[in-house]
Amino acid sequence: MRTSLMLLLASLLAAPMTASAALRVVTTTEGLAALAREVGGDRVAVESLSRGVQDPHFVDANPILAVKLRDADLLVDVGLELEIGWLPPLVNQSRNTAIQPGGPRRLTAAAAVTVLDVPTGVVDRSRGDLHPGGNPHFLTDPRRGVQVARAIAARLAELDPPGAASYQARATALSTRLDAALARWKGQLQPLAGRKIFVHHRTLSYFLDWTGLVSAGEMEPRPGTPPPSSHLADLVTLARQQGIKACVVENYYDSKSDELVARLAGGAVVKIPGDVGGDPAASTYEAWLDLLVQRISAAVR
Ligand SMILES: [Zn+2]
Repeated sequence: MRTSLMLLLASLLAAPMTASAALRVVTTTEGLAALAREVGGDRVAVESLSRGVQDPHFVDANPILAVKLRDADLLVDVGLELEIGWLPPLVNQSRNTAIQPGGPRRLTAAAAVTVLDVPTGVVDRSRGDLHPGGNPHFLTDPRRGVQVARAIAARLAELDPPGAASYQARATALSTRLDAALARWKGQLQPLAGRKIFVHHRTLSYFLDWTGLVSAGEMEPRPGTPPPSSHLADLVTLARQQGIKACVVENYYDSKSDELVARLAGGAVVKIPGDVGGDPAASTYEAWLDLLVQRISAAVR
């Protein structure tokens, strides 16, 4: 009797300990969540504040999200003001001071990568410059994805020293897998180097940087600004002159302008998921990148 009671007590005590043993990692996007799961394994419980089908620039700052942040052991955000419209109020509401910018439980992924598209000259967010600090869409580059994964592994190791070796080993395994995928993708893309596409928002600068494809223009004249018809007419002229056939647009955007340009230029709209989880086939970071490579390369072939 006494033994069974002790077993019961032990199991009651063990249950919450097992649950609290996992570090609660909250990320702003599904792409960051995927990387955190890759390096964290079963030592972490990861949750993303936005879904892969959502526009990460404009997430509804629902108070439920602040509750998730209250108990977070680590918050990983993209940075470069991608989430400036919705994350700061949620972090303040959460009253979790350790996840404030610069806090011990806050990791801003942008600090781990070299940033492209840093504006020069006058930057004015009120005129539609969504990204005054540079382009935050860096996870479309697997090399930068690995850098972010390693930064997450390093921070997890600080917060959970007994897991340090596991985090490092898992980050290295991810790096090895993505290196192999990168070689495969580059082999496939190499004959297409220099082919031109239109993009909707400036989301693919990092993708173009490693694939060798080229952006001939954007539907948005400035990041975050809706296109005037004169701008679309210029793109149609350009498409006809240069034989540009693909208008690539994330599936969270209204694609009316892309459809119009594609129709008048005799090209096609290529819809892509903006992030991991933005398409049923994009369930992991590698699967998402693979889907981008397959859809875009098919359109420019
Ligand atoms: Zn953007």
